[in-house]
Amino acid sequence: MQILDGKALAKKIEGNVTNEVAKLKVQTNSTPGLAVILVGQDPASQAYVSMKKKACDRVGFYSVTHEMPEDISQDAIENTIAMMNQNQNIDGILIQLPLPPQIDTTKILELVNPAKDVDGFHPYNVGRLVTDLDGFVPCTPLGVMQLLNEYSIDVKGKNCCVIGASNIVGKPMASLLLNANATVEVCHIFTDDLKKHTLNADIIFVGVGVINLIKEDMVKDGTIIIDIGINRSDNGKLVGDVDFENVSKKCSYITPVPGGVGPMTIAMLLSNTLKAAKLNAQKKD
Ligand code: NAD
Repeated sequence: MQILDGKALAKKIEGNVTNEVAKLKVQTNSTPGLAVILVGQDPASQAYVSMKKKACDRVGFYSVTHEMPEDISQDAIENTIAMMNQNQNIDGILIQLPLPPQIDTTKILELVNPAKDVDGFHPYNVGRLVTDLDGFVPCTPLGVMQLLNEYSIDVKGKNCCVIGASNIVGKPMASLLLNANATVEVCHIFTDDLKKHTLNADIIFVGVGVINLIKEDMVKDGTIIIDIGINRSDNGKLVGDVDFENVSKKCSYITPVPGGVGPMTIAMLLSNTLKAAKLNAQKKD
């Protein structure tokens, strides 16, 4: 069994982004800028935003966080997005999800200029992903593809079982795999007999949020396991959706939690923001 080391690859990518930022400054006298909207006091959202901000600082981006109270109005968020869409110093806009129930999340995501949509959640970018055109791809599944690529794992013709079908993880994961010529099955909460599907898989991608969802008897020998889940166990440890201790004995490759997909997600946010900055710099020329 080999560990797919997302932490190491993310560090390498950060190094490359740092070099590219320095080059961009010399060539265009501009610094990539990321704006984040954070609504409310959810500790997990605050932690994610803080990690993203630190990563921006490490690579030399300009970043700004708009912190808003839980009872913020739809209009106030929309006005902030409109301002950031116009702001020449902002290349990427990230809305930290989830937003509170009074907010129409779909409308908010649709307001982000697709050229600044570094999370890849705007329907324009979703459409481009599904049709295999260049655009912004959601960071978590994009990070998974880069991790597979780093270890020369080709998904072409492989039976891939994606478990979890959210707009930010499962669905874009399935699209990327299909675009790379994998045979893709997508499972979710209503899937009958999950084990039947996982036992048929060469590669399992699980992003659900259920501790130990994937157990030893659900995996055939030599399977590749990509654990996207992030959960807090009873003793406060960060764990994924896979029973790592037992499943890792049967598989050929596996991502650890932490240190697997999580760091890749942040690395992809940096590379998506750099991509947006380069495109915006070209437009200014
Ligand atoms: P979500 O709640 O939006 O979606 C969960 C999906 O899992 C749904 O499609 C649901 O049908 C499915 N599901 C739920 N219970 C299931 C079960 N018992 N069997 C099969 N399918 C089931 O969640 P999300 O935002 O997609 O996040 C999923 C997980 O991925 C969470 O643990 C989250 O923390 C994690 N996540 C990790 C990263 C990362 O960087 N590693 C990024 C985003 C999300």
